Amino acid sequence: MNVVLPKTNAKPAPPREDSLTKTPPDDFRDRISTSDETGKRLWVYAKKPEGRWTNGRTWFSWLLIGIMFVGPFVRINGNPLLMINIVERRFSILGQLFWPQDAIIFAVAMLILVIGIILFTAAFGRLWCGWACPQTVMMEMVFRKIEYLIDGSNLEQRRLTAAPWTTQKVLRRTLKLGIFFGLSFVICNTLLAYIIGSNALLQIITDPPREHLAGLGFMVAFTLLFFAIFARFREQACTFICPYGRFQSTMIDENTMIVAYDHKRGEKRSHLQKEIPNSQRQKEKIGDCVDCHQCVAVCPTGIDIRNGMQMECVHCTACMDACDGVMEKIGRAAGLVRYASLNSIERNVPFRFSPRMGLYLGILAALSVLFFTLLFTRPAVEAVFLRAPGSLFIQTQDGKIENLYTVKLINKTMRDLPVEVRLENLPGALEVMGEKNLHVAPGKFTETSVLIVLDPATLTAMTADLKIGIYSDGKKLQTVNTDFIGPRKN
Ligand code: SF4
Ligand code: SF4
Repeated sequence: MNVVLPKTNAKPAPPREDSLTKTPPDDFRDRISTSDETGKRLWVYAKKPEGRWTNGRTWFSWLLIGIMFVGPFVRINGNPLLMINIVERRFSILGQLFWPQDAIIFAVAMLILVIGIILFTAAFGRLWCGWACPQTVMMEMVFRKIEYLIDGSNLEQRRLTAAPWTTQKVLRRTLKLGIFFGLSFVICNTLLAYIIGSNALLQIITDPPREHLAGLGFMVAFTLLFFAIFARFREQACTFICPYGRFQSTMIDENTMIVAYDHKRGEKRSHLQKEIPNSQRQKEKIGDCVDCHQCVAVCPTGIDIRNGMQMECVHCTACMDACDGVMEKIGRAAGLVRYASLNSIERNVPFRFSPRMGLYLGILAALSVLFFTLLFTRPAVEAVFLRAPGSLFIQTQDGKIENLYTVKLINKTMRDLPVEVRLENLPGALEVMGEKNLHVAPGKFTETSVLIVLDPATLTAMTADLKIGIYSDGKKLQTVNTDFIGPRKN
């Protein structure tokens, strides 16, 4: 640690503005923290953080990692817990299957997600980035920890990079990058399981490779992409690629909880001088920050939180732990860097729900009610009942009128459904053409033709509205409307 403690008992010299106290640099916005004046990448050798926030995040990360990797294999009512099959436009959320016909429900779910993100960010800043984003969780809790195990501390890592290519360095690099590649492969397969479902993934793995060239191509491409992100891009993915960090400034205000440096308490920052009595510190307006740079040393994005809110900050809490550790050692109160709103630091205003947050919450609640209503009232079978294209009506020899229909039945569940269609509102006959016993396979659709025969006496006009009941195992699932055409009435 860089805390400066003089070893002599000599009478202290009064603090000098030029050496003991420092004013924050004002050139930190000229370039991002991970590049030099020429734009060249500066590699971040982040010190391993320790403390209560890191411990909390570690436990939470294990829970998230467990959910992340087990998620595609967990099934509810036979459906995956989460599946986002963009290719076939089929989605499963919490075991509920969504089809293209459920576009409204899906759109409402997306709106809830967007407003949820806005509300969450307005209230808690980038809490998501630091605690739950898969990129941060995997980078800080898995890949970087493996790096500490193989390459040692941040200082040892820096030395190893600068060292010549000895056998030991080659072995260490091979081991580390080999493990990184293997993990990237596992992550890629998990992503694939979320996209196409675990059964389809298993097929790709077990079938001959030539039968799944597209799937295997995706596997190779995304394994390389994840490997590049975790081995090389790292914090650059958050700074340059992720849009969330970019537009967060439009969502936060002075009431938002962020990882913040209490500049009123910390400034003027000064190296720790044991001999300066508190009374003199107060007179000289010397703050609690001892300018030890521990908050900068642990930062995985290489920034100095004392410069205020910055785009690169992923709210990982490492600087909070580092500073609390320093404050504890020098006998000052923790929380110089803490979760706080700008209002609480500047004006001692406690965290409160702003009208803007209230508005977002109201919209979110209304959308959630709409979402669950749509979700729980949608039928297990979606039926489309249309008169056969180009067909009119046929008058049979016994004087009856026939109309031919095309029926499409979509099974939104993951179980085999026997389906029966019945004419509900008029006396007449309904005949399923071809296979009489209709069955729709789980998550599939079937198409068939249906003939409806009516007595002309039941028709009061040239067209009649029909109601068709869709049943499964004797239980009515849905009623669909269609029309029936007969001869002109005089
Ligand atoms: S400034 Fe602090 S919270 Fe932000 S990324 Fe750096 S260490 Fe994490
Ligand atoms: S904020 Fe805390 S950790 Fe950072 S330099 Fe000041 S005393 Fe050190």
